[in-house]
Amino acid sequence: MASKIEKEPKYIPEMAQSEIDELNKSIKAASIKVIEDNIERMKKTWKNRPKAMEYFDEISNLFGKRAKELEEQKAAGKKIIGYSCIFAPIELILAADAIPVRVGSGWYDTAKLGDRIMPVEICPVIRSTVGAKMVSLSPYLELSDAIVIPLTCDGRTKLSEMLSDFKPIWYMNPPRVKDDTHTLDMWKKEILVIKEKIEKLTGNKITRQKLKEAIEKMQQATKAFRRLQELRKGAPVINGRDAMLVNQTSLWDDIERWTQKVNELCDELEKRVEQKDYSSYPDTPRVMITGTPMIWPDSWKVPNLIEESNPQGVVVVDEQCSSDRILYDPVGVDEWNMSDMLNAISERYIMACTCPCFTSEHGNEDRINWIIDRIKEYKVDGVIYYVVRGCILYAMEYARIKKVLDKMGIPVYYLDTEYTREDVGQMKTRVEAFLEMLEARIDI
Ligand code: SF4
Ligand code: SF4
Repeated sequence: MASKIEKEPKYIPEMAQSEIDELNKSIKAASIKVIEDNIERMKKTWKNRPKAMEYFDEISNLFGKRAKELEEQKAAGKKIIGYSCIFAPIELILAADAIPVRVGSGWYDTAKLGDRIMPVEICPVIRSTVGAKMVSLSPYLELSDAIVIPLTCDGRTKLSEMLSDFKPIWYMNPPRVKDDTHTLDMWKKEILVIKEKIEKLTGNKITRQKLKEAIEKMQQATKAFRRLQELRKGAPVINGRDAMLVNQTSLWDDIERWTQKVNELCDELEKRVEQKDYSSYPDTPRVMITGTPMIWPDSWKVPNLIEESNPQGVVVVDEQCSSDRILYDPVGVDEWNMSDMLNAISERYIMACTCPCFTSEHGNEDRINWIIDRIKEYKVDGVIYYVVRGCILYAMEYARIKKVLDKMGIPVYYLDTEYTREDVGQMKTRVEAFLEMLEARIDI
C-alpha cells in the first residue's frame, strides 16, 4: 500500500500534455513581454542609461542566453544545482564544479495555476513556483539536477514535498535561533551533509584548493557588488530598479562574468559621479524597500511604481534577499584549511542573514540593526515595507520595525499586495501619497 502511494504524485494534479504545452507557451510569451516592458520602462525613466546595463538586460531574459548556456553545459556533463533561498552555500556548489541557480518564481500567471492545489492564503512565491513546475515554465527549475530547499517557513517546507515528485530535494534546516552554540553546531552539520550530497551528485571531491578558489570567486563578486552599493550612497547615479536587476541576475548568471560586468558598470558610473551626471534629481526622495523578496520580472511592479511616480522616488537601498542581501557579506576566512573554510561558510550563511525566520530574546535584532545602519549610510528619507499576502514572517515583524523607525523619525509605509496586476492603480495612489509626504518633508 505504502509503495503505491509513493508512486503517485503527492500534490500536483495530472494535466493533459496539450494543456501544459498551451499554458507554457502563453505564459512564456506573456513573461517575455513583461521583461521587455520592464526594461523599456527603466530606459524611459533613465534616458542616459549606461551602455554596461545592456548586458544585464540580456541576462534578465529568463528564457534567453543564460538558459541556453545552461542547457549546453548540462549536455556537456555539468551538474546544475537549484536552490530556493539564499541559505544554500554557493561556494560548495562552485567548488564541486557544479552550477548554482536560484529557482524561486516571480511569475504572477503561474501563481494562479498554483491556486489549483493551494488555498490563496499561501504565499504567492510558493504558489507561483509550484505553478511554474506544473507547466515546466522555468528553464532553471527544469534543468536542475537537485534542489536545495532550506526549511525556513511553512510554505517552503511544503514546497519541498511538492517538488520532490520531480527532482531530488535536499533539505536544509536553518536554526531559528542564531546565538546558541548548539544551534550553530547543528547548522555546521547541515553544511557538511550538503557538501557530501553535492560531492555524490557531481562525483567531484571538494578539495581544499577548489574550495579556496570558490570562496575567492564569491569574494570578488561581493567586492564588485559593494563597489556598486557604494555608488548608491551619494546623489543618484543609478536608479534603484537597475541596481536591483544587476543584483538579482547574480542568482542565475555565471558569477565570474557577472563580477566583470558589474565592475564595467561601476567604471562607467564612477565617471558619471565626477561629471555630476545623475540618473534622477539629487533631491529626489530616497527610498529603502524592506520585506518579501521581489522576484523578477513581475514583482518589478513596486519599484516601477516608486521610480515612475509623480513625485518620483529613487530606491537607494533595500533589505531583501532578492537584491542587496544576496552578496553583501563575503565568507571571511582566517586560515585557508578545510575546517576553517567550512566553519567560515556555515557562519556566513547564518550569522549574516537578516531573514525574519530568526528570533532571539531581543527579537530579530540583526535585521533591525541592518535597517538602521543602511538608513544612515544611504540617507534614506522613507521606507516601503513590502509584504505579499501569506508571508507571515514579514507581516508579523512590521510592528517591531515600525516602532524602531518611528523612534528615528523615518516614515514607513506598509505596502501589502498579491501576485496580481489588478491592484496597480490602487497601489499607485498609495505610493504617490507616500512620496508626496516625503517630498514635503525634504522641502521643509
Ligand atoms: S525571506 Fe528568508 S526564507 Fe524567504 S527566501 Fe529570503 S532568506 Fe529565504
Ligand atoms: S515570501 Fe515569506 S512566506 Fe513566502 S517563501 Fe518567502 S519567507 Fe516564506
